[in-house]
Formats: sequence, C-alpha cells, structure tokens
Amino acid sequence: MKLKQKKKFLVFSAHPDDLDFGCAGTVAQLTAEGNEVVYCILTNGEKGTHKVKQTKKEMVAMREREQKAAGKVVGVQKVIFLRNTDGDLEHTKDVRKEVTRVIRRERPDVVLSQDPGNNSFDSFGRFHRDHRITAEIVFDAIYPGVGSDSFFPELAQEDIFPHQIEEVWFYSSEKPNYFVNITATIAQKIAALKSHESQIKDMKDMEARLRKRARDFGKKKGWKYAEAFRRLTF
Ligand SMILES: [Zn+2]
Repeated sequence: MKLKQKKKFLVFSAHPDDLDFGCAGTVAQLTAEGNEVVYCILTNGEKGTHKVKQTKKEMVAMREREQKAAGKVVGVQKVIFLRNTDGDLEHTKDVRKEVTRVIRRERPDVVLSQDPGNNSFDSFGRFHRDHRITAEIVFDAIYPGVGSDSFFPELAQEDIFPHQIEEVWFYSSEKPNYFVNITATIAQKIAALKSHESQIKDMKDMEARLRKRARDFGKKKGWKYAEAFRRLTF
C-alpha cells in the first residue's frame, strides 16, 4: 500500500495489546512510509496477567510501559491512556465524550478500531465486553458526533473543535474487505507483541499462531503475510 500524501492515523484499543494483535504490522508499514500514528487505549487492562503478586497500581504502570515499548517498535511515539477500569467499561456519554475529545484533538485522517460489526460470539477472548463496547463507543463517537458542533459543543471551551475523519479501518474483523501487506513488517509486529510480557505466557506459541493468521490473510492477495480490515469510508 502506498499512500499519496502523508496522513495521520489514530488507533483505538480496549486494552493494551489488542491493537498489536490486530494491526501492528500495518502500523509499522504506515510509519515507515512517513505517516503519523497515535494510539489511544480505553482501559487500564489491569486485570489480565499471568504474573502474580502485582498490585493494581503496579499492574497499570506495567501495562502502560509495555504498550509504550510496543509502540516504539513500530514507530509510534504517542500513546494516550484513558484509564477506564478493565472489564467494567460502559458505553456512557462521558466515555463517548472522552473519545470525541481525543479524535477532535488529534485530528486524524483515518481511525482504526475494533469492529462493532462482529457478532458471532464464537470466541471468549475476541468478544470480551470491553472489545465490544470500545468498538461501539468509537463508532458512535465518529458518527454523527465528532464532525458536528451540535455534539459536545462545550469542548470548544477547551479549544477543541469538530473534525471530520475520512475513513475507519476495523481490525480483528469478521468481515474484512481490505488487506495490507505486512511481509516486510511482521518481525516488528512480533517484537511489538513481545513487549507485552505480562500478557503472553508462551511467546513461541503466540508467534506461531500469529504467523499462521497473517499467512492465511496473505494467501488471499498472493502475499506472504497480511493483516485484514473492514474499511468504511464516508
Ligand atoms: Zn483485549
């Protein structure tokens, strides 16, 4: 994929690491081509670890460190943490406002997020409620609110104004319609995932599963490795 002009991408994720599984190879590709990518993580992810004896505070700090390190591997310098409680994310107007504030402040051309169109409930992990709720919050923030001053007009007092994005790429989607060749960046994706040390017990197993998935997507396009998205344009 070659973009004509440099663009800005904003990637939302329920937990630290979701976005690395879903799209870190694409992110590495985008930053290598000179585009800017910013991450925004909705919850602390403080409840999931295989490491014991961590206090909640230590856990939050560790997961933020891991996500920042994972970002650096793929050329992402800025990670925004909204610090909602892991597992207890609710679709409230307040959280939607937070997400709207981030989009209007960052002013991306393209937003990436988990997919509100997924509904098979065929995997416990993928259908974690924080993933479902994040996907819906981001979708609802984008339309109709983020580009319209009828929604959250009070943000103007913070010098934050409506902003129209061009498109959304949903990662980890059940119905992908857009593929990115990550053959050149799969090693970076794996390295990024290895930054999430508190989450991944068996790195070898993770890498094997990840390569298989990327190979399966790649086959559809005749590439060695790919990531897949459901792309929605305005
Ligand atoms: Zn997650």
